[in-house]
Amino acid sequence: MYLSSAFLSHPIILFIAMIKRILHFLLKPFREHHVFMIAFFVLIAAPYIVFQLRFGFYHHYINTLLIAIHCAVISYFTTLLVSLIQPKILRKTIQSILIGLAAIMFATNIFCILKLHTTMDEDYLMLILDTNPNEAYEFITAVLPKRVIIIVSSAFILLLGLWGLSSHFNLNLRKKGSLVALALMGLFTIEAIHSWYIWQSGPLCLLKGLYDYETMAFDKPNNVKPCITFSTTQPRPNNIVLIIGESFARFHSSLYGYDKMTNPRLGELKKASLLYTFDSIDAPAPTTALSLKYMLTTCSKSKSDSISLAEEWRNSITVFDLLKACGYDSYWFSNQARNGRFNYMARAFAKACKENHFYQNEGSINDSYRLDQVLVDSSYQFTQHLEQNSSYFIIYHLMGSHFNYSQRYPKDYDHFSPDEYSNYPQHQRLNLSIYDNSILYNDYIVEQIINLFKDTEAIVIYIPDHGQDMYRSSPDYFTHGIMNDPVSYAYGVEVPLMIYASPVFQEKHPDTMQRIKYRQDHPKAWNTENLPYLILDLIGATDINGENIQSKSILN
Ligand SMILES: [Zn+2]
Repeated sequence: MYLSSAFLSHPIILFIAMIKRILHFLLKPFREHHVFMIAFFVLIAAPYIVFQLRFGFYHHYINTLLIAIHCAVISYFTTLLVSLIQPKILRKTIQSILIGLAAIMFATNIFCILKLHTTMDEDYLMLILDTNPNEAYEFITAVLPKRVIIIVSSAFILLLGLWGLSSHFNLNLRKKGSLVALALMGLFTIEAIHSWYIWQSGPLCLLKGLYDYETMAFDKPNNVKPCITFSTTQPRPNNIVLIIGESFARFHSSLYGYDKMTNPRLGELKKASLLYTFDSIDAPAPTTALSLKYMLTTCSKSKSDSISLAEEWRNSITVFDLLKACGYDSYWFSNQARNGRFNYMARAFAKACKENHFYQNEGSINDSYRLDQVLVDSSYQFTQHLEQNSSYFIIYHLMGSHFNYSQRYPKDYDHFSPDEYSNYPQHQRLNLSIYDNSILYNDYIVEQIINLFKDTEAIVIYIPDHGQDMYRSSPDYFTHGIMNDPVSYAYGVEVPLMIYASPVFQEKHPDTMQRIKYRQDHPKAWNTENLPYLILDLIGATDINGENIQSKSILN
């Protein structure tokens, strides 16, 4: 008795017992929770493997293999962690939730691969989060092809079948088999740590996307007092008005040669030499939040790689701080939603203004959505009481032609009918006609806003956040340009740029008018991420903290 207890408490025996317990724990995913682990692995890994194989297995087999290893390691450790949960009922519930989430990711990824030629990357996640859930649903149902539904539902049926079969057949590994599997998982883990960079192409990139999305708004540029130099001592214009449009494709504007008369009112202003249009203009991104991020700050997407971009974003200056330093107070009027995490970027900018007014609380699709007329009506009193000796920077954020197009205009703007699009395929005609109707109504709204300032010394800039790919990259695709598809992206960022100069402004600033007219007649490729430089150029500034403005303004 004495001998055996001494023997049992021997350190080597205790050590062996401990190793056995650890092994028992580490083997759990292979012996007790293998069905969950396999299902989780298949759901998260399959779309990424299919996507990699699209390029040809021969060229991308290493990436494909690494992503599979990466997903195997994620599945194993997730299963291991979940196996710790007690009691059993709670563990089963959490397993079901995780399988449900993985299934949603699987379906979304298959949709993205077949329809948008990309996996669900962080950019695309941002595009979806940028809209509200109703819009996302409408968008998906509008463009969802039958083959996606067939593939996804077949995969689910197959998986459910396997799940059912697993209870009839003993699929768990015996002791030796599970030890081999554990050794293999050890090697996989070492390889996954070694090739950690591959996570950027796998499912974990979504977590980064979500993290960036949540933190971006709070990580915005700090309030700074930039040092701005002016070329002359001439008084600056009283009113700078910036109309930020929504989803306006340049291709659909009659001001740019479109065959339907979508911009009759602005066309009249152009004829009267009050409005000037510029060609070869691109937006910095095909989505609202990303575009606004660059359009309203000095942050430049093109001059940085992705690592230093975060740094540059923090060091950048908002257009509101720039204009504040020039003596302008900013006022924000918006018909886009104030609430919801989906509108974080515009909300953060609106808060940086002296005053902000939102006329829509929820998303852009609900029963009580408002037409952009609300912006004209609600800001009327404000614009009639502008003080002569003050300088105003007034921003109008329109709902413009945001999907769903038919909800963006009143009945009396139902001008273009599908019959007028007989040279387009049947299935495109209705969407093209309602999109053009929304552009036509936008023409009226922009003119109404311009009219509020026509008797003052004012410059009004109209610029949409981005364009729309209306079936130009593919006969089945419309709405936002696709990030990973260069053709769709190019159409998605193709935008108009218009500058209205009131008669008083034209009279007081002949030199600036000369430069505006010259640029209209001599187009130059320009990205709207340089918008702050154009605005400062228009009010006569030359340098921001020693950086030359004119090289980035379109007028030079
Ligand atoms: Zn947008």
